[in-house]
Amino acid sequence: MTTSDARTKIVWDYAPAPESPEHVRLRESYGLFIDGEFRAPIDGRRVPTLNPATEEPVAEVAFAGEADLRAAVDSAREAQPRWASLSGLERGKYLFRVARLIQERTRELAVVESMDGGKPIRESRDIDVPLAAAHFFYYAGWADKLPYGVGGRQVAPHGVAAQIVPWNFPLLMAAWKLAPALACGNAAILKPAETTPLTALLLAEVLQEAELPPGVVAILPGDGALGASLVRQPDIDKVAFTGSTAVGKDIQAALAGRKVPLTLELGGKSANIVFEDAALDQAVEGIVNGIFFNQGHVCCAGSRLLIQESVADEVIGKLWERMGRLRVGDPLDKNTDVGAINSREQLERITELVSAGEGEGAVRRTVACELPERGYWFAPTIFTEVAPAHRIAVEEIFGPVVSVLTFRTQAEAIEKANNSTYGLASGIWTDKGAKAFEVASALQAGVAWQNTYNHFDPTAAFGGYKESGFGREGGPAGLRPYLRVT
Ligand code: NAP
Ligand code: MG
Repeated sequence: MTTSDARTKIVWDYAPAPESPEHVRLRESYGLFIDGEFRAPIDGRRVPTLNPATEEPVAEVAFAGEADLRAAVDSAREAQPRWASLSGLERGKYLFRVARLIQERTRELAVVESMDGGKPIRESRDIDVPLAAAHFFYYAGWADKLPYGVGGRQVAPHGVAAQIVPWNFPLLMAAWKLAPALACGNAAILKPAETTPLTALLLAEVLQEAELPPGVVAILPGDGALGASLVRQPDIDKVAFTGSTAVGKDIQAALAGRKVPLTLELGGKSANIVFEDAALDQAVEGIVNGIFFNQGHVCCAGSRLLIQESVADEVIGKLWERMGRLRVGDPLDKNTDVGAINSREQLERITELVSAGEGEGAVRRTVACELPERGYWFAPTIFTEVAPAHRIAVEEIFGPVVSVLTFRTQAEAIEKANNSTYGLASGIWTDKGAKAFEVASALQAGVAWQNTYNHFDPTAAFGGYKESGFGREGGPAGLRPYLRVT
């Protein structure tokens, strides 16, 4: 491994600018959100949720057991027909209220998201929380126009939806799942990830405040076993899952032979392609955003950087220089660019894959920066001399690590980009509009960003090809998985 000899010299630095957690009103212990209220678990247990930046507990959370899960399903079954019989206009009003309440609690939600999951406050405050509100606003608008979203055909909700989300965008993924499900008249049982249950529980408080009818949404924190049990419940009518490809396959197998529609949003190894005619400084910013946003815990992260050979040295040079100026550390500091790794397990996974990259002969460079003594951290890392068969070019690292490959021609760029079992997203950096469209239409990826990366909007559909899953979230296409269309 080559580490930068000296930390990039900057003649000025940022003073600490910590966001205060003082205004946050967290309870010491949270129950399960069932039938519109927080309940003590029947056969579940209570587990602390940690701050990955300090390894200290933030709060205690109830994990649901089998009897709790049954109670949530029963309550959702009972509530769903009444919810579906409300006019779309009425359902829309509830969603608008939820969106407004999220906006009112933005600061608190952002701080809790950063404390529970480790992401920089700049991101939770400016991206996760506003986008979560935007998704509720967007689908509120659709609630009374559902047939127009599916070409004027007749629609009906499926019934009770089981929804499982990962830890990388806890509140935002909950919003992506709940907003369209509710707009379409479904009830929902949401299982947040084990390491990041808190903002989903604050969202439950928001639902209470919005006076959403009891039972329409249940929020059940728990581990993987609870997720596995949830998708196997006989009384559910729809499953939506975001997470790893391995678990997605397990869920698909569990549902085989049952008429339960399934949406899978899985992993990725997305190609970010830089052509020689791109605005290179702008591209470097896009590369940084593509892979270091949320510590690289992003399913659509631009983790395979494809650079045209003629500009490879220049781009890598600029990128390395820029990486040296990323500020890694306290997620609650408003100046932080790269926060804490979400969990010890994820840190181990990143470390293992990075060692594999070194072992296979790729050249590693990791930014030399001071990391806090406690907590889980990984400094921004770049691999060059990467071969397409290396594990770091094939497997999802889900951390702040970018693997660089080069190409000579447009055809080679497309071939290399598509040489993956995944197909979630892609980035295309070029000055030529026609080239961007040509490349985009040849890529097997659900999203193609042109001269930007990791740009999300509730009006745009998001989802995968190949082992990145199927079904779409966002936009009118995001209504479809929650409707029976006749
Ligand atoms: P994961 O292990 O698949 O977990 C995702 C969720 O599923 C968590 O709530 C998890 O609970 C639960 N779960 C675990 N085992 C389960 C089982 N057998 N049956 C049902 N549910 C189960 O994924 P992760 O490691 O937390 O998240 C990272 C992965 O998610 C990455 O591969 C990433 O690419 C993918 N992801 C994809 C998207 C997308 O939109 N395509 C978005 C974000 C993340 P626990 O937390 O308790 O384990
Ligand atoms: Mg946590």
